[in-house]
Amino acid sequence: MTRLLEIDDLSAGYGGVPVVRHLDLHVDAGEVVALLGPNGAGKTTTLLTVSGLLPSLAGSVTVLGGPPSTRRPQLVARRGVAHVPEARSLFTQLTVAENLRLGVRRGGDTSVALDYFPALGKLMDRRAGLLSGGEQQMLAVGRALAARPRLLMVDELSLGLAPVVVEQLLPVLRQVADDTGTGVLVVEQHVHLALEIADRAAILAHGELVAAGPADELAAEASVLERSYLGAATID
Ligand code: ATP
Repeated sequence: MTRLLEIDDLSAGYGGVPVVRHLDLHVDAGEVVALLGPNGAGKTTTLLTVSGLLPSLAGSVTVLGGPPSTRRPQLVARRGVAHVPEARSLFTQLTVAENLRLGVRRGGDTSVALDYFPALGKLMDRRAGLLSGGEQQMLAVGRALAARPRLLMVDELSLGLAPVVVEQLLPVLRQVADDTGTGVLVVEQHVHLALEIADRAAILAHGELVAAGPADELAAEASVLERSYLGAATID
């Protein structure tokens, strides 16, 4: 199994103040790992640190063979990491086709986006800003897939979307991992939907890991999930 991401004893945060502490987490090729936890737990901070958009304060991150660089965050993308941020970051004045072309790097191909999101096919000439929330999210993930990533990180795919839309989108991440061997790290508020598609999950509360393990075991442990979301002390 190829290790794509290894996070060891990571502390990360803002202005030298850690909001994530002592985090251990890994993602292997072909795996879907869900990073869960209540608002403000440090999930986005973790993804930003892996991407090199925030410095780590202690511990280590090894992503596709090396550490991220805050001075050159594009290095992580070049190694094969695609990061779909919480805010989607689409070019709203550009069309769907133009947004997809911007995702393509050497060896990439926009058609992969249509393979996974065929609904984008009839929207190619529409400006991204005019798409529905669900269509925008398809475009954001489709653009990331066009880069043929080895590690795909998706931050709250479900933000602002109806649960029925999330139910359609999340399984695509599972499919991508199964088809291509891409490792997927997904931050998600819809805990049970995320656990259905994930192999493993890690739950953060107040910046610390409170539970981690196979997704099916965590899904069966309702009390673990509830205590995590109430921000209880570390769970054995
Ligand atoms: P959510 O589900 O609400 O997005 P999260 O688990 O992704 O939450 P983070 O966004 O990582 O949480 O935030 C973790 C902590 O860091 C929070 O207390 C938040 O207020 C703080 N924080 C986030 N961004 C900044 C920033 N730019 N400067 C200072 N503190 C920040």
